[in-house]
Amino acid sequence: MVLENVTKRFSNIIAVNDVSLKIEKQDFFTLLGPSGCGKTTTLRLIAGLEFPDEGNIYIAGKNVTMELPKNRNVAMVFQNYALYPHMTVRENIAYPLVVRKIPKREIDRKVAFVAQSLQISELLDRYPQQISGGQQQRVALARAVIQTPNVFLLDEPLSNLDAKLRIEARSFLKRLSMELGTSVIYVTHDQSEAMALSTKIAVMNQGRILQVGTPKEVYDKPMNTFVASFIGNPPMNIIDCLFVGTKCVLGDQIIDFSDLPLIDFPSKKAFIGIRPEHVTLDTKDGDLIGEIYVVEPLGFETIVTVSVNGKPLKVLVFEDVSFKSGDKIFVKFKRNKLHIFDENGVRIRRRDE
Ligand code: ATP
Repeated sequence: MVLENVTKRFSNIIAVNDVSLKIEKQDFFTLLGPSGCGKTTTLRLIAGLEFPDEGNIYIAGKNVTMELPKNRNVAMVFQNYALYPHMTVRENIAYPLVVRKIPKREIDRKVAFVAQSLQISELLDRYPQQISGGQQQRVALARAVIQTPNVFLLDEPLSNLDAKLRIEARSFLKRLSMELGTSVIYVTHDQSEAMALSTKIAVMNQGRILQVGTPKEVYDKPMNTFVASFIGNPPMNIIDCLFVGTKCVLGDQIIDFSDLPLIDFPSKKAFIGIRPEHVTLDTKDGDLIGEIYVVEPLGFETIVTVSVNGKPLKVLVFEDVSFKSGDKIFVKFKRNKLHIFDENGVRIRRRDE
């Protein structure tokens, strides 16, 4: 499935701006980005519920840019499931096959099979309002899965579930997609969901794709400060600084980065990027000095916020901490995990990558 320079405008809003993507058959491909960045519109363009102003869309090798949804063989699951309330679970699941006039015996066999694999066989004769939200979500998925489409399009299908059920459903969805072997295009604004589920993530902002990569690539080598600070929880610390040669100036503190193998050092304003798990705290020495702002124990890990030059820096600590707000503390950055972004927020590559 390919999107080639696709643009979609709604009067003066450019919802999708020159988007090109290639999605392979086994991909669990996630469109990730903040509200309003164009994720749903991209999915609707693929489904044929919208038509692009520019560009082409190919599904299974065929140009479907202007085809109606019924000619695309895609299955879509929306945020709100959209089950038919007057139909039983069985009728809901069977519906896509009934409209295609598939023989009843074959429909019965397929419904029984998907219901069993989704563990909803005992719910088949109930109505949607007689089952829980999580069960409704499985029914919506069953209705999609029964179609053997070219591609599954899932728009925040887990967003109505509570936190616990959401994590269970997430594992289930990942397993299901691996078993089906059909490409999935998934929309979410939840970075942890994207990281957990995807084979590839496309990070979007303002209608544009900023980066496409595996979860590890976008996490370890974010191309710019937007991607860096959108992925990770807590997200990457992005610190303003000034470079003079290999020396980095932050207020009245200086760090010497001459040991950092950057292909090029920025000549003036720049940003340091460091993930909270790659900062260590030390009472004796370090790269910068700051003051403990607040300590938040979460059970397994603790988030320590340190105020450095009056700006917050998040640190993840995996052992017990005895610091108190107001304590003076040094922070030390793991050199091989440090990112430098130029004045436009674009990451500067290292010679060793
Ligand atoms: P969310 O996560 O909030 O669902 P999204 O990333 O899916 O957001 P879209 O729904 O694709 O974003 O919207 C992208 C932009 O296009 C937004 O500015 C939105 O207001 C606008 N938009 C979407 N649909 C329409 C429409 N039918 N008419 C006018 N503007 C629209």
